[in-house]
Amino acid sequence: MSDHLNLFEMASSQFKKAADLINLNPMVRTILSEPQNEIIVNFPVTMDDGTHRLFKGYRIQHNNTHGPYKGGIRFHESVNLAEVKALASWMTWKSALMGIPFGGAKGGVTLNPRNFSPAELQRITRRFTYALGNNIGPEYDIPAPDVGTGAREMVWMMDTYMQMFNASERNQTRRVVTGKSLINGGSLGRDKATGQGLVFCFDVWSQHAGFEIKGSTFFVQGYGNVGSHAARIMQARGARLLAANDHTGSIGNADGIDAEDLAAYVAQKGGVKGYPRAKEIALTEFFHTKADVFIPAALECTVNASTDSLIQAKFVVEGANGPTTPEAEQTLAKRGITVIPDILANSGGVTVSYFEWVQNKNSEIWDLEKVDEELNRVMTRATLGVIQEMKARKCDPRTAAMALAVGRLEKIYMERGIFP
Ligand code: GLU
Repeated sequence: MSDHLNLFEMASSQFKKAADLINLNPMVRTILSEPQNEIIVNFPVTMDDGTHRLFKGYRIQHNNTHGPYKGGIRFHESVNLAEVKALASWMTWKSALMGIPFGGAKGGVTLNPRNFSPAELQRITRRFTYALGNNIGPEYDIPAPDVGTGAREMVWMMDTYMQMFNASERNQTRRVVTGKSLINGGSLGRDKATGQGLVFCFDVWSQHAGFEIKGSTFFVQGYGNVGSHAARIMQARGARLLAANDHTGSIGNADGIDAEDLAAYVAQKGGVKGYPRAKEIALTEFFHTKADVFIPAALECTVNASTDSLIQAKFVVEGANGPTTPEAEQTLAKRGITVIPDILANSGGVTVSYFEWVQNKNSEIWDLEKVDEELNRVMTRATLGVIQEMKARKCDPRTAAMALAVGRLEKIYMERGIFP
């Protein structure tokens, strides 16, 4: 994971490649090459034992020309400025590519949530929200869950933000965050949205490539929200899960692993390690799993110089943000392996976040069928667009997706110009 430190350089090199390809206007290239705002806060929190600790939190607002800043909040011990900048820029491309009226942002706090009690996590989340103050807002910057956070943290953020308003205004601030629990204004289908969107995207891609999901095999890295939902939905399509890996270890079973049963086990035990109906395998063996599809759904840069040559799959479908380094991507391309890029494949999360935001704004509640149908429509449109762009420009899938996204932002800037 040595590439971790240079995540913004990695994101910048992807941007440069697409910008060169479409001959991006120099003014727009300059503007998009750095985030608009970089907010760093150090905030104190009282621990359960009465001592105090200072935490470092980030909110990077990359771009808001396509709509309000939008993107998740990550709680992880490796959160750092370069990482959050990269993740924020990917959100900008994601929203533009999907055609949803948001910009891009990302936030995080450098901590390992497993080391804190729920009461401490609540105080950390609330104090971080307070420290961000007016830097977030329902029409300005809208956080959501990411690695290490979920509906629980989003409801704490919402409640804290609401306290800054009069009672009569509070309901209209509910949509300051998305990914909330259902009872607190969340959307049906948001929980599984990233995994669901990934499979909707792969439905279209595989049909186009003449590949049948039914009867195929796959393996998943990261069995959290994204990985476990993607696995269960792939299984419902008739595909078989052969191996899984997470922070606790790797497991495999050539006869197949029941994705539902494994999800129930992980929910109870906190990881895949010790799962009784598979055997423990080494990380190299995991990457070498003989399966058709690999879904990296953990952290960035896991498909790198030391793992790329092990992968035997035909498709790498990126559930995580930035899982493939540019060098590994080249190696995979040479070996005929297709990488379906993050900004397309994992954008179901932010897409259903948008649906949640719209429902809150209009005081509506959509049923699950409507959410899934709309998500499928957005994913299908974007996937077909990327395939078409790839052919037209004779480039790889990521560069095609980036070219579409950056091209849309260029159009906005060319029409608007810059002030003054
Ligand atoms: N954190 C998710 C992502 O990386 C979701 C963002 C959102 O819903 O705003 O796409």
